[in-house]
Amino acid sequence: WSSSNFPWEKKLEENNKKVFGNHSFRPNQREVINATMSGYDVFVLMPTGGGKSLTYQLPALICPGITLVISPLVSLIQDQIMHLLQANIPAAYLSANMDWSEQQEILRELCSDYCRYKLLYVTPEKVAKSDALLRNLESLNARGMLARIVIDEAHCVSQWGHDFRPDYKELGILKKKFEKTPVLALTATATASVKEDVVQALGLVNCIIFRQSFNRPNLWYAVIPKTKKCLDDIDTFIKENHFDECGIIYCLSRNDCEKVAEKLQQCGHKAAFYHGNMEATQRAFVQRQWSKDEVNIICATVAFGMGINKPDVRFVIHHSLPKSIEGYHQECGRAGRDGARSSCVLYYSYSDYIRVKHMLVQGQGEQSSWTSGYNRGNTANSDGIFEKNTENLLEWVSYCENNVDCRRFLQLVHFGEKFDSGNCRKTCDNCAKMKTLVEKDVTVIAKQLVELVKMTGQKYSSSHILEVYRGSMSQVVKKHRHESVSLHGAGKHLAKEEASRILRHLVIKDYLTEEVKKSDVYGSVSSVLKVTTVYIFTFSHPKLSLRCRFISPA
Ligand code: ADP
Repeated sequence: WSSSNFPWEKKLEENNKKVFGNHSFRPNQREVINATMSGYDVFVLMPTGGGKSLTYQLPALICPGITLVISPLVSLIQDQIMHLLQANIPAAYLSANMDWSEQQEILRELCSDYCRYKLLYVTPEKVAKSDALLRNLESLNARGMLARIVIDEAHCVSQWGHDFRPDYKELGILKKKFEKTPVLALTATATASVKEDVVQALGLVNCIIFRQSFNRPNLWYAVIPKTKKCLDDIDTFIKENHFDECGIIYCLSRNDCEKVAEKLQQCGHKAAFYHGNMEATQRAFVQRQWSKDEVNIICATVAFGMGINKPDVRFVIHHSLPKSIEGYHQECGRAGRDGARSSCVLYYSYSDYIRVKHMLVQGQGEQSSWTSGYNRGNTANSDGIFEKNTENLLEWVSYCENNVDCRRFLQLVHFGEKFDSGNCRKTCDNCAKMKTLVEKDVTVIAKQLVELVKMTGQKYSSSHILEVYRGSMSQVVKKHRHESVSLHGAGKHLAKEEASRILRHLVIKDYLTEEVKKSDVYGSVSSVLKVTTVYIFTFSHPKLSLRCRFISPA
């Protein structure tokens, strides 16, 4: 597909330079364009910032007819249309919140034999719910004027992805109705199973797949323990590394966004917040301020980001756990689109895991953007989505807890890519640390901890279990008479952090589970450890063992 013998080659080169102002093509752009212009269905996995838009905008410009683009967010569509109109490429969009008369005018234009639009953007709801649009597309198709169908952010089709949108599921209808029109599905995040799901749901035939390394060599990754002074730490980090530069801070809740923005303002940063509870006009205002560099730092829920087209974002900080490795990779991908070195720092605490798990259990989609699009209201358990989310979360906790392996390696493995950590060149915290590691067999300790959870009736928190295990004689321990349990003090030789890591490994590996509940009227969250059936069926098997790596004190 990289050949330059295609008949449109000259036009491609010319328009890429003249209209889009690019001197050359980026990896896979030419290949994708050649494949889609040859009439094939194409699936493209390209990291954020890789230049996916060009792969359909350039063909749209040089092919006769109209390209239909399905894109999830109106703000993203508006941004694209603005760029296209600036480049003198006629484009329009249809969305449910436009005036009826405006919509009619666009639909009328589509019916005309001299339709001036080269691209028509629509949201997926529009395809799912507007018969008028489908009728117009049929008419375009009958006249041979429907050049191509583009599905942007195609991972939203799959409920195994991190951003499932039910309306995307309906898009399979397009291939059924317009069998011969080539479909181009684009995404920046998809594992093998998501890809399969997307190709199947969209009904793509003999699909050509392009995938590109997800490694972003200019991004520097770190996970930092989150303490009570986390906001001071963030302030210092920005001042020391990125003062007056542009960045995003992702927070778990709307309340957190506001708190973090306020603190950073007090510390002298130009910060604002952005979340789903704000009026659309307010959100648009913040986004404009950010585009014009009137504010440098946006403290936002994941509602902020898709379609962010700012090349000079120098840092992405996660104040709390992202929802999955895929989500994290995409959020970090908003940094350093211009190729310059940028930082991705995650503040991690195990208690955030408990908080998020609690949200999942409660199916509080409407209370936090974290779970929105996941649980779809309170149907937390439908279609195995809840289990999948919990699995994603545990995988994620295990990434954060891992203070040994290369972060790039850990992320890329998730996308099915092999990465030699020798090539990280100290661009992640783990590779940058000079450390001596020791691997220990901790099976005996692990079994004792699980036994202790069982012995004490599976109703205590991890910190209580650790206290008993390490031989504490605190009032709480005595109150429950746990100083007389046979395993009291069995782990007194262990450092608190060591015992705690082993306990967390037991949770990550699903031998123990943290059952979360709201403990009082103020809504604070507590958790109790329980033994899982995995333990009952497998862990007690003598051949199984648990090994953990620790940083040697030496
Ligand atoms: P994606 O959708 O993959 O995240 P975009 O299509 O938004 O990426 O492109 C990211 C940036 O890269 C944009 O600013 C775009 O103008 C720029 N870009 C795309 N292709 C090229 C190219 N061939 N040469 C130079 N810049 C490019």
